[in-house]
Amino acid sequence: MREHKKMKILDWERSFPLLEQITKRNPVLWLNPKYKRSPVHSSLTERDVKDAEQRLTRFAPYLAKVFPDTQKTKGIVESPLIRIKAGQAEIERRYICSIVGDLWLKADHELPISGSIKARGGIYEVLTHAESLAMEHGLLIQDDDYSILANESFQQFFSSYKIAVGSTGNLGLSIGVMGAKLGFQVTVHMSSDAKLWKKDLLRSRGVEVIEYDSDYSKAVEAGRKQAESDPKIHFVDDENSETLFLGYAVAALRLKKQLDEQEIQVDADHPLFVYLPCGVGGGPGGIAFGLKLVFGEHAHCFFVEPIHSPCMLLGMMTGEHDGVSVQDFGLDNRTIADGLAVGRASGFVGRVMDPLLSGIATVHDEELYKLQALLIDSENIHLEPSAAASLAGVLQVTSDSVGQTYLPKHQMENAVHIVWATGGSMVPVEQMNKDYEIGKRIWEDHQA
Ligand SMILES: *Cc1c(COP(=O)(O)O)cnc(C)c1O
Repeated sequence: MREHKKMKILDWERSFPLLEQITKRNPVLWLNPKYKRSPVHSSLTERDVKDAEQRLTRFAPYLAKVFPDTQKTKGIVESPLIRIKAGQAEIERRYICSIVGDLWLKADHELPISGSIKARGGIYEVLTHAESLAMEHGLLIQDDDYSILANESFQQFFSSYKIAVGSTGNLGLSIGVMGAKLGFQVTVHMSSDAKLWKKDLLRSRGVEVIEYDSDYSKAVEAGRKQAESDPKIHFVDDENSETLFLGYAVAALRLKKQLDEQEIQVDADHPLFVYLPCGVGGGPGGIAFGLKLVFGEHAHCFFVEPIHSPCMLLGMMTGEHDGVSVQDFGLDNRTIADGLAVGRASGFVGRVMDPLLSGIATVHDEELYKLQALLIDSENIHLEPSAAASLAGVLQVTSDSVGQTYLPKHQMENAVHIVWATGGSMVPVEQMNKDYEIGKRIWEDHQA
């Protein structure tokens, strides 16, 4: 098998010249040759996404009741869309480049409950599971006011059920906080790169955290195994869950409303570019899927991955999807971007993305620190390094020579670029300051 794989890699190196750059860990921009402008064709549909949106609306009274920070949005877990004019100018100044079009930031780092993009998929999956359990047992109907779920009797009911998940951190945080709030017994299997503060926070909410001194895939595998042995455990499968995926996709319907409110048009002359940091793929994949349903060929979605963990890029480029890992190509999957430290992408997501995704950019860890610091200096917006990858995406696509071939220049003039800021507000101040100092120092060294 190993020899076989080596032969294949030699073949791929001949077929995909970019592979040499990827294995040398040079940042690249890959444009997806399978990208099609035709409408979304998938077993998942707009109806599924609307169904997910309605489920979240049913739960809104419950969330508003148990999570005070969702009260001002009446229990709808959503983030603002922010025009970052100063950030755009500062990127252009420091990188000596020009971003044609307007730069906006989707502030998922501010999402209530868990402070990252995972508050979309993770919470949605827990709620879906809770709803189906309660309905199966005749405790809940769709027309109920779901705030009754906060009652002691429901806590009692859910406490005989378990939820398990394997995570690099943020998914565990969302599932753990939401699951524990409902009353479930939650176990989070954490990879070695998960930050201590995330483990501490979960334990403080009564979540069981099991640590592994290996990477994300191993943590997931352990979780899956544990769940197989017990029918009362619901395993949240980050690699294969359609439920998670749909929870993320709802973001697109909400973004459409926000763009309408800002009177931002999306059409052939006003293309929408969206840059999404990618780990296993569910979050960015779900959102991109939703955007393609809503905006069709006028939405242009790009993923961004660390140069040490370009799992989606390798999977999609070779067509092997989850059949290959970054380790197969001599990469080590070591990155400071803990939400993105994934060595093997979701095959399910990769296949859905084949005709929908415009491309993938890769980024150096050092650049993540720099962009994180730049955004703090220019906008006072505090992201975690993973989320700063979105800014690397817009830089690659607008200033790289490959990126400039993507759309004719005249179409770019009215482009709207949205960097998806996937996390940050839960990061402890000391950690944030440490990261900021690193970024600042790198900028200073470059100037010297
Ligand atoms: C999880 C995560 C992502 C990527 O989501 P995937 O579903 O793993 O691809 C991006 N940014 C942050 C901060 C994350 O936690």
